Amino acid sequence: MRYQRSSALFKEAQQVIPGGVNSPVRAFRSVGGTPIFVEKAKGAYLYDVDGNTYLDYIASWGPMILGHAYAPVIEAVKKRADKGTSFGIPTELETEIASWALKMIPHMDKIRFVNSGTEACMSAVRLARGVTQREKIIKFKGCYHGHSDAFLIQAGSGAVTFGSPSSPGVTKGTAKDTLLSAFNNLTEVEHLFKEYPEEIAAIIVEPVAGNMGCIPPVEGFLKGLRQLCDQYGSLLIFDEVMTGFRLAKGGAQELLGIKADIATYGKVVGGGLPVGAFAAKNEIMNHLAPEGNVYQAGTLSGNPLAMAAGLAMLQTLDAEPDLYTRLAQKTERLEVGFKSVLEKKAIPYQINRLGSMISLHFTDQPVIDFETAAPGDNAQFNSYFHGMLNEGIYLPPSAFESYFLNDALSNEDIDKTVESFSSVINKF
Ligand SMILES: *Cc1c(COP(=O)(O)O)cnc(C)c1O
Repeated sequence: MRYQRSSALFKEAQQVIPGGVNSPVRAFRSVGGTPIFVEKAKGAYLYDVDGNTYLDYIASWGPMILGHAYAPVIEAVKKRADKGTSFGIPTELETEIASWALKMIPHMDKIRFVNSGTEACMSAVRLARGVTQREKIIKFKGCYHGHSDAFLIQAGSGAVTFGSPSSPGVTKGTAKDTLLSAFNNLTEVEHLFKEYPEEIAAIIVEPVAGNMGCIPPVEGFLKGLRQLCDQYGSLLIFDEVMTGFRLAKGGAQELLGIKADIATYGKVVGGGLPVGAFAAKNEIMNHLAPEGNVYQAGTLSGNPLAMAAGLAMLQTLDAEPDLYTRLAQKTERLEVGFKSVLEKKAIPYQINRLGSMISLHFTDQPVIDFETAAPGDNAQFNSYFHGMLNEGIYLPPSAFESYFLNDALSNEDIDKTVESFSSVINKF
């Protein structure tokens, strides 16, 4: 049996971990079946506990942009581990990675490191509220900013502009301070500002949405958000947890030429270790404790192993001028291959792509926001996902996730993926 040992391990895991996993999407609930358990990974490949090999298109949901077990990162972690793994006392390494990150991302003066993207976004919102002395935020339906209470909000019914909790445990009090708008819809955002002109602390947005498939911003959307924030005295937070150091050295801010007031990072910045970060200009960042009175802290923040991995990662990205072009070309090769298969078979589809983020939706209408990302045929997606898995291609186990390409993927790997895609799609 192809997944025998994974199945056994999954059963065991379910006895001691809720749902058998430490993050829900890993349980394959939306696609059905048993998750594979990984033994190891190297370059573009994953190796499971049953001895199967896969080309990996999730890259740990983004961080492994250079491929798995990238030698300079592994070396840096090993070397650092010998000196002790945590102190709760400053290290020189923290200043080094901060300087390096600030050199790569545009126009920010200071950066603070935390342990996850969730923490980064949660802290960015607190900082924005502290600076503006306002309480409400605007978030976009289908954008993900981690699992902090303020972000687990869904659309309220009818004309209600503020949201309701999308998870038990999130209070109505929290929900009333999170206003919702459709992604790519400036008119809705304008209405929210007209309704609450002096109450909105910040807009938080994924500049390129990557948690409902890949959805690039339409022309003028981010610029419009920038203008509205300036007009109403609110702060613009770019959640670059996914796009930061992936779409360009300076993330979406650099690629799309829009300046945010606060930017949050995660994923790539940690080189595969648990790291998040948020950055801003001095006048904002100086509100943060101990400089200012907005509290934020972390026992393991700036952890030396994590900082060593992150620094090795950033230094490599910084030294590779062609990396982002190359990644985009590889992703385009995949897109062209997929398209030719789908066209021949006359299956309705949408492929959205920006740089090394790409997603496929089985629908004939353009996917520009959560509503349009939603109606895809789920049964079709599931048989597609499992078909690809059986071919040795590991795709995100949910129709709402972007693929993340890594630089270890060769053109041959991509052509092989397209061949597998063709044989899976031709069985539809
Ligand atoms: C992954 C992600 C987060 C959350 O990061 P974690 O490290 O999982 O807490 C936040 N925002 C975006 C855009 C993400 O993709």
